Amino acid sequence: MCMDIMKEAMFWDKLEDEQIRCELCAHHCNIKEGKRGLCNVREYRERKLYSLVYGKAASLVSDPIEKKPLYHFFPGTYALSFGTMGCNFSCEFCQNASLSCGSPTSAHLREYSVKDIVREALKYDGIAWTYNEPTVSYEFSYDVFREYKKKGDGYTAYVTNGYMESEPLKKLAPYLDAMNIDIKAFTDKFYREVVGGKLQPVLDTATRSVELDIHVEVTYLIIPGHNDEPKELSEFSSWVKENLGEDTAVHFSRFHPDHRMRHVPPTPTEKMEEAQDIAVEHGLNYVYLGNLPADNNTYCPGCGTTILSRSYFSSGKPKIKDGKCKKCGRKIPIIY
Ligand code: SF4
Repeated sequence: MCMDIMKEAMFWDKLEDEQIRCELCAHHCNIKEGKRGLCNVREYRERKLYSLVYGKAASLVSDPIEKKPLYHFFPGTYALSFGTMGCNFSCEFCQNASLSCGSPTSAHLREYSVKDIVREALKYDGIAWTYNEPTVSYEFSYDVFREYKKKGDGYTAYVTNGYMESEPLKKLAPYLDAMNIDIKAFTDKFYREVVGGKLQPVLDTATRSVELDIHVEVTYLIIPGHNDEPKELSEFSSWVKENLGEDTAVHFSRFHPDHRMRHVPPTPTEKMEEAQDIAVEHGLNYVYLGNLPADNNTYCPGCGTTILSRSYFSSGKPKIKDGKCKKCGRKIPIIY
């Protein structure tokens, strides 16, 4: 079993009635002495809130950046990928429940210092906080990213549900280069009933992150019969175009039965293609399909030239010069 090491948490306030309120994410949990917040990895003990997953990794491996997925951000590179236990959502369809529902004292966790992780990350092109929700291990990511940025020019990334509050996001932004944000549906009802949260804070995080100059891509997992109505997909696509921009990379991901949604069938390929068509019709220029074989090359929206060929999780270098298509000169928003 992993030792019970605790680090004082950031972003919390004392309340008058012997409780504290955590301000890290939009749940704003009120927590009593000896209890934990909804994420199960932040605990109130002796008048302080502690992170129970500081320095604890459930998974530490290198991944292609395309696997996050981030398609317009240093294509063809590898990121050291850190994941631990805990999540501030309780998605019925969770595709990674062993980590999101895992215990902060699990025997599967291994302990690392900030220096350990930075030393390992320097062997790759960047570092990503992923697999479980990164917000709930905010303190460790903040310390690692800050130290990592002092040591070299590698990139940092979060693969997140977007439920972080604005102040923590603002504090992390100078050290965070990219985010893939899950938008799990485009109705508050789905967020309330299936996810255990609200839609608006997620949308706010996405727009704030763009304003803070963080590279943002968006993932939408299409679950048959739950969040795949053309009207909902149209509203989602319009919102992305108006608020994040028409050149935002959007990833529609195919659902496979998991966790408490094993009775729901995998998303039909036709439904995935329909979602892609809807997003393109609404003016989005880069719409990709994940978790199924598909043409996921990047094409210039101006002249149709293949900018970047992708195969599974690998890709080459984009055919652009000074950020523009070599053939027609259109701006291509791929960072590399
Ligand atoms: S980070 Fe955890 S404890 Fe803090 S508000 Fe969110 S769910 Fe609650």
